[in-house]
Amino acid sequence: MFSHNKRLQYTVRVSETNPGLANLMLEQFGGPQGELAAACRYFTQALGDDDAGRKDMLFDISTEELSHLEIIGTIVGMLNKGAKGRLAEGVEEEGEMYRTITGAGNDSHITQVLYGGGPPLVNSAGVPWTAAYIDTIGEPTADLRSNIAAEARAKIVYERLINLTDDPGVKDALTFLMTREIAHQKSFEKALYAIEPNFPPGKLPGDPRFTNVYFDMSKGDPDLRGPWNQGERWDFRTLGQGDAPVDGGDGVATVVLGDAEAPVVQQMVARTQSYRDGDPTTGAELGMIDQPGTALDPEGLGAESKPLR
Ligand code: MN
Ligand code: MN
Repeated sequence: MFSHNKRLQYTVRVSETNPGLANLMLEQFGGPQGELAAACRYFTQALGDDDAGRKDMLFDISTEELSHLEIIGTIVGMLNKGAKGRLAEGVEEEGEMYRTITGAGNDSHITQVLYGGGPPLVNSAGVPWTAAYIDTIGEPTADLRSNIAAEARAKIVYERLINLTDDPGVKDALTFLMTREIAHQKSFEKALYAIEPNFPPGKLPGDPRFTNVYFDMSKGDPDLRGPWNQGERWDFRTLGQGDAPVDGGDGVATVVLGDAEAPVVQQMVARTQSYRDGDPTTGAELGMIDQPGTALDPEGLGAESKPLR
């Protein structure tokens, strides 16, 4: 069960209203790296996890993310408060009001007119939140890696938002939210290493012929080496024309068709066959007939000497 505590997890003190800044904060309310996405990601993972310790951690962190959603949503509401009041009460001339809510140079007028200044579940560009932001696959060694990356991304978005405002109260609350993502990243990383083995993800081992091979497939300078492809643990192979396939086969794709499938496929192949010895005139070429030097008039004689065929 859930129960709500009316106090925020961290105190929010906004120095002045700023609808443009409010709109940017929506990135962490309804955006892909935002708090709702994080809360739903860990909550659904917790429901599906069979390890008691990891399940408990996922419920703890998902519930904290909901508390972060409350904080960032509260910041949005506070920053929008002034414009919301003025728009609702119609206290300004229309032109002046228009400048107030559009002057920030972003989509804050959408937030004001469409959502009345409250925090909508959209990102800072007005794109609705979607469950497609959550990439859970239901295998902890893969999901924990994704969670680590998700926390890293959330940390970076907070860092960028902190660099956008000089409001000390907003900076302070954002710094708390950013810091908690660092702590979550640490928990997820520890939880990943608490599973042994955790690499490769899942149960099936890789094909040993290829697990330690590095294919050098991008040609041209610079062609650089680093720990990701050099040293005793790597078999570095430069692949050129003629080096494929790498499995010792003939590199040709085959499929066995059923008795009913074969004649239909052959019929389709015959119908869509191309004739390589013709040279059909195209509409584009007909349009170029008056232009000397083009394909239909290589000598540059012009339309007079080149009647349409
Ligand atoms: Mn968070
Ligand atoms: Mn987090």
